[in-house]
Amino acid sequence: MTTVALKDVTKVFADGTIAVDNVNLDVNDGEFMVLLGPSGCGKSTVLRMIAGLEDPTSGAVLLDGELANDIPPRDRRVAMVFQDFALYPHMSVGDNIAFPLRLSGVDPESRTERVADVASALGIGDVLSRRPNQLSGGQRQRVAMGRAIVRRPGLFLMDEPLSNLDSGLRAELRAEISGLVRELGVSTVYVTHDQAEALTMADRVAIMRRGVLQDVGTPTEVYGRPATLYVAAFLGSPRMNLLEASVYVHLDRYVALNLGEQALYLPWSDIRARAVSHYHGERIVVGMRAEALTPVAPDAPGDVLRGRIRFLEHHGHESLAFLDIGATAIMVDDLGGQPADPVNGSTGRLRRLGSVMQRLTGRSTETGEGVEAGGRPGSARESVLSDPGRHHRRPAELAVRLAPYPAVSSGHPLSVAVRMDALHFFDERGDRIDVGWR
Ligand code: ATP
Repeated sequence: MTTVALKDVTKVFADGTIAVDNVNLDVNDGEFMVLLGPSGCGKSTVLRMIAGLEDPTSGAVLLDGELANDIPPRDRRVAMVFQDFALYPHMSVGDNIAFPLRLSGVDPESRTERVADVASALGIGDVLSRRPNQLSGGQRQRVAMGRAIVRRPGLFLMDEPLSNLDSGLRAELRAEISGLVRELGVSTVYVTHDQAEALTMADRVAIMRRGVLQDVGTPTEVYGRPATLYVAAFLGSPRMNLLEASVYVHLDRYVALNLGEQALYLPWSDIRARAVSHYHGERIVVGMRAEALTPVAPDAPGDVLRGRIRFLEHHGHESLAFLDIGATAIMVDDLGGQPADPVNGSTGRLRRLGSVMQRLTGRSTETGEGVEAGGRPGSARESVLSDPGRHHRRPAELAVRLAPYPAVSSGHPLSVAVRMDALHFFDERGDRIDVGWR
């Protein structure tokens, strides 16, 4: 099956929009690669360049190791499935699936056989004689998939194929699609803005922001060791807590991470302490996911942060407490609207109201919120710490997981133990600080 390589690929549209900025990416034989990022980050443009529907402004697209920039789309052995797939309304399901075979002159007997095989693999064998308007949304999407598969392409390109479906059907179909393409062994590039889709379906995920590739790795790698602050903030629900810390090295004891009113201490036995110690006297970002925080008794010893609950969110299977610990949070732009977003979501508006109330009652807040950083694609690389005028900070609300409907409420004190080995560190440009980091 087909391999894909993008070498220094850039796309600048006629109006000057830099949609894709110097992207390098390899898709291996039979691999399921997911391109993930918020709306407008350039993922569809990458897909369209692989398909040959858009020309790169510079750089090379290689298919099976051969330069493909000048190969017309029909000769690339790729099949595309879009969000707005169009079925021919006047044709039966069977004829819709068979259509590409008819175009390429496959004889009727083989056509019928191949359509039956594909339809049965997709679980639509019993609706072959129906018209598209007699199908459910999920069945129609399966027909579109069938039409792509039946050509036996070397490469599938899928652009948000599930986004028009309801969430139950999406979950069902994502398992089906990833199972099916793996069975067929066809290399696949799948575009989505939905991290759940990316993390559940992909062999590897490539995360983009403003045209720039931020990180590529298996779901475990990008979630467990995000390469940039942006990826750390983008992946996960609730979002990773990102706190500003100033670093102070105590040679004989530990590396202190001063978070404002409290501090954490990274022992020298932690192999990352040496990497962090290079930032002595500087500010870095410390990331902690909710799963790194466990509620403990107020007098518990060890690595503990103490604060007051600003508010609670109840999600049925768990509750989230948002804790004021007297620290400063670093806010990241371009995260899109997915998981409960303290800045942009509806809870965000309530929280903004909370901040206004706090201001009125005297507690200082350092910045405004949700202000665009602006700048060219790739401004992930701009300093997130050293320019307070960019309004990237606000008082931290540490997200902590609690049992459902806990016996605490807003204003209650809460202490949480911090798993120091689960912390993430980022420098002022937003790049990961780690041992043996790429
Ligand atoms: P979405 O998920 O919303 O489809 P995306 O990540 O796929 O977004 P693209 O469609 O690749 O993003 O667009 C990347 C950027 O290029 C956007 O800023 C978009 O407005 C711009 N863009 C796309 N097509 C054109 C075009 N033909 N001319 C000018 N700008 C374009």
